Amino acid sequence: MKLHEYQAKEILAKYGFPVSPGMMVKHLGEVDEALKRFPEGPWVVKAQVHAGGRGKAGGVKLAKSDQEARQKASDILGMTLVSPQTGPAGKLVKKIFITPAVDYVKELYVSVVLDRSHRCPVILASAEGGTEIEELAAHKPEAIQKVYVDAAQGLHGYQARQLHLALGLPKDKVAQGAKLFQDMVRIFMDLDLSLIEVNPLVVLKDGNLHCLDAKIAFDDNGLGRHKEYAPWRDPDEEDARELQASEFGLSYISLDGNIGCLVNGAGLAMATADAIQHFGGSPANFLDVGGGATAKAVTQAFKIILSDSRVKAILVNIFGGIMKCDVIAQGILEAAKEVGLTLPLTIRLEGTNVEKGKELLAASDLKYQFASSMDEAARAAVAAVTGRNSGS
Ligand code: GDP
Ligand code: MN
Repeated sequence: MKLHEYQAKEILAKYGFPVSPGMMVKHLGEVDEALKRFPEGPWVVKAQVHAGGRGKAGGVKLAKSDQEARQKASDILGMTLVSPQTGPAGKLVKKIFITPAVDYVKELYVSVVLDRSHRCPVILASAEGGTEIEELAAHKPEAIQKVYVDAAQGLHGYQARQLHLALGLPKDKVAQGAKLFQDMVRIFMDLDLSLIEVNPLVVLKDGNLHCLDAKIAFDDNGLGRHKEYAPWRDPDEEDARELQASEFGLSYISLDGNIGCLVNGAGLAMATADAIQHFGGSPANFLDVGGGATAKAVTQAFKIILSDSRVKAILVNIFGGIMKCDVIAQGILEAAKEVGLTLPLTIRLEGTNVEKGKELLAASDLKYQFASSMDEAARAAVAAVTGRNSGS
């Protein structure tokens, strides 16, 4: 679960980080209240969307007067923000954050993520922070420092002080910097995060540090231990189909292709996606209906797949173990009837009750192509969207 900047800053403030207060605004009518609460301009008006790169995309604007603040708020609220992190469709801005602007002399980058190969948290930090960090990571990776963290003990004091000095931060502020890095790791561990990022972390004229932007993402597997943050989820920012699927115990992830996939088991679902790619196609989703899905859940899964207008063909790939092939067949038939399925449908069934499943399908008036292997199924689905058979 990702948080908005204004929420991430609330957590940072609770842990005593140097952040500016501000107000989240959903309607233009509330802008004046924000200006009243923080009467000292200039202000920064910032789009609140779950994506980075807002600055370059026109979602972060400085306002020097009340009037300018109202103008920038009206420009940003309701805009469709397109950044490399939003995808080409962009994100509709439904919330903004109004905060007093800060003068600074230097921008840095700091984050904590999990390093899976080292099996521990790692701090990534650079003296060259700000909006060009992706460029830096791509073209000058040596400018990004890595500090591996002992998960049981946290970041040691000496590591934190070394990092402060390595980043060229003011020597007389080493205690402040070291505490900030240690506390970032502390929050990462306390809240079971997958990411905490401050970019930019800035140096003020007097040498003090300040957090200008913040990103936090919870590891969903740890969210059960942090129920107080459950209401912080913003459904506006979540994929509607993913939310709907989770209500039916289906694990669904939107992808950007056009072949809808209905599969049982995460491994088979990934293998199916690979097979589709191999034959030159592109999956529209990952969907694991699980081991014990009912005909109702399968119907629901079909509805979710079909609610995506990009889907041009459907591939059902089931290996029946606990999940019985006849249940899947029933689900397919019910769903087809309910939603008026007209898209090309390829079905591959194997395993428990496969004969019963095939009989049910054969006895129906459903139009589909049966495939007896995964390769054949993937090839048929790709042919259905491209109109040509692929060789390999
Ligand atoms: P992002 O582009 O989504 O990462 O949004 P940020 O909050 O990081 O803002 C982008 C850029 O806007 C920063 O790197 C700064 O250069 C600038 N910026 C943001 N807040 C302030 C501020 O209070 N004062 C000044 N001078 N610049 C700011
Ligand atoms: Mn930023």
